[in-house]
Amino acid sequence: MERVNILGVEIDNLDLEGALARIDRFIAEGKPRLVVTANPEMIMLAGKDRTFRECFRQAGMVTADGIGVVVAAKLLGMPLKQRVTGIDLVTELFRRAARKGYTLYFAGARPGIAEKAAENVRQGFPGIKITGTHHGYFQDDRDIIDDIMKKKPDILLAAMGMGRQEKWIMDRVIKTGVPVSIGVGGSFDILAGEARRAPAWMRKAGLEWFYRLINQPARFGRMLELPKFLGAVLACRQKLPEKK
Ligand code: UDP
Repeated sequence: MERVNILGVEIDNLDLEGALARIDRFIAEGKPRLVVTANPEMIMLAGKDRTFRECFRQAGMVTADGIGVVVAAKLLGMPLKQRVTGIDLVTELFRRAARKGYTLYFAGARPGIAEKAAENVRQGFPGIKITGTHHGYFQDDRDIIDDIMKKKPDILLAAMGMGRQEKWIMDRVIKTGVPVSIGVGGSFDILAGEARRAPAWMRKAGLEWFYRLINQPARFGRMLELPKFLGAVLACRQKLPEKK
């Protein structure tokens, strides 16, 4: 199955390699596109927020970020090939960008963080071209839009939190002609060394959410969306016709 519908949101059934190949194609075609890395909280938000739902509908690619989306697809009898998290996607993208000469722009996070993230990425991926950075706390985005138009990156990463980043991309960045714009949530904080990822064993066990919860208790309210999400998926499964 090419796309899997979870609570009204279409997810592309791609593994990491497939997602990267599609980004290559988007850059070669040059038509501006949004890439969304969807987690359960985002799918729940899309149910309540029409503009955000529209972002999903118009996206060039939607990957399954978060173990909850993978579990949901399985429950609905439409298993996904792989979980493709935003941070895994961008890390592999950096490797590719350094090799192929793609240029990148980092927009988002607190002042100084995007620069620090860019510096660390330059060290980790020698030769990579990150041509611009900007923080994500602007009132008026004219300067940053002008800067993006001047730098003409192949890929723009927007790290301003779910919803906000995708709407900004659709509303403002698409018009600048950047071929690939990806909403990457808290990734710059991780790349700048301000926030840590869960240890590998926890990630493999699908427990990254738990690690984030104990490290950022303020996320607790948001985490309550996960049981609601799974409840909604189970309710949806009951409505599906019995498989022969
Ligand atoms: N952020 C931003 N502008 C804002 C609000 C948030 O750039 O107006 C940044 C924030 O500094 C952080 C990221 O957006 O780096 C949100 O991270 P989070 O892990 O909450 O992402 P989410 O899970 O919401 O996608």
